[in-house]
Amino acid sequence: MSNIAVVLDTSAIIRGFELLMRDNLLKNVVGSEKIFLFTAPAVIEEAKYSGTKVKLKLLLSRVTVLNVGKKYLKLAREAASKMGLQQELSDTDLEVLALALELMNRYTKVYVATDDIRLQNVCISVGLDVIAFKRRLRYLLRRRKKCMFCGIEFDNKFEECPNCGSKKFKYIVHKVKIR
Ligand SMILES: [Zn+2]
Repeated sequence: MSNIAVVLDTSAIIRGFELLMRDNLLKNVVGSEKIFLFTAPAVIEEAKYSGTKVKLKLLLSRVTVLNVGKKYLKLAREAASKMGLQQELSDTDLEVLALALELMNRYTKVYVATDDIRLQNVCISVGLDVIAFKRRLRYLLRRRKKCMFCGIEFDNKFEECPNCGSKKFKYIVHKVKIR
């Protein structure tokens, strides 16, 4: 069974955390039982001052707060800049993205849970999947490769088309509705 990491941003923690914990919803979404929740220190600071009734104690019992490595912060800035969004992402957004990039080395799959469209775009561009809320968990954004030769879609992990062996592909983004 694969190990899944989910990195939560402030919007996910404020609006979606209890939802995620309820009814095994998260398990259904990512299709695995081994789910590890993470967030960055800046997110916890933001959540504290958000004025909402965030159950921080409960939160911290389930979510691991990890410091972000400088190397990955740099990669996060580069990814944002590639998408032309370097001015749009806050330092907190960059920490979330950097943490997700770092965890990609250790987990089979890494999701970023966020309602922020700009952060979602940058995540997708580097091959991270996105869990989006808006009060309810509504959709998942998933980037896949599509073969330019035979047209089949395949997983990002393949270097070449598993059907015809072509190395020419483009990326497409799927929006998957959840229930
Ligand atoms: Zn092909």
